[in-house]
Amino acid sequence: MKHGTSDRKIGPLTAEEYIEKGKSFHGSMAPGLLIGGFMVDYARKNLPGGEFFDVISETGHCLPDAVQLLTPCTIGNGWLKIIDTGRFAITFYDKSTGDGVRVYLDPKKLESWEEINSWFFRLKPKKEQDSEKLVAEIIDAGPEILSHEPVKVRSDFLARPHKERIVLCSSCGEAYPEGHGEKCMGCSGLLPFI
Ligand code: ZN
Repeated sequence: MKHGTSDRKIGPLTAEEYIEKGKSFHGSMAPGLLIGGFMVDYARKNLPGGEFFDVISETGHCLPDAVQLLTPCTIGNGWLKIIDTGRFAITFYDKSTGDGVRVYLDPKKLESWEEINSWFFRLKPKKEQDSEKLVAEIIDAGPEILSHEPVKVRSDFLARPHKERIVLCSSCGEAYPEGHGEKCMGCSGLLPFI
């Protein structure tokens, strides 16, 4: 089978078109963003059915931007959530039934992809990486380094959170959700401000 950069598609886009979009959206074409494009595509092709899907990204790095580039799901509209397990995985699930598919970068499938493997496991310093070869390898591999599994999202996670009462903080005077406690989280030390 002929592999080549030009015949790999990411949704309706060619890999080259996706790379261009990614550069303007993300600032650069990070390897994780490129793999993320294939992950979104792969997840969509393996959806268990249903019409409206929400997404969970298990990392805050790169993957959320692949989702936001290729789907209507964004952090801002709440259809994309990050639950940071540190694993390179995304889950698409039906928001009414919770039926979903989880797609992950499969370490077992990385053996024959040397550049991807050494990038993923951080085996060499960034300046020693051959980024052109890495990108070519990612496009060549496409979905071949991915695996998927069915998942069922818990009903308490699917339920819309009830809107809390808003009160004024006794310390800063700004408004915050009452359930956070006596003071707002900002005044309780959550922010890294000196
Ligand atoms: Zn406050």
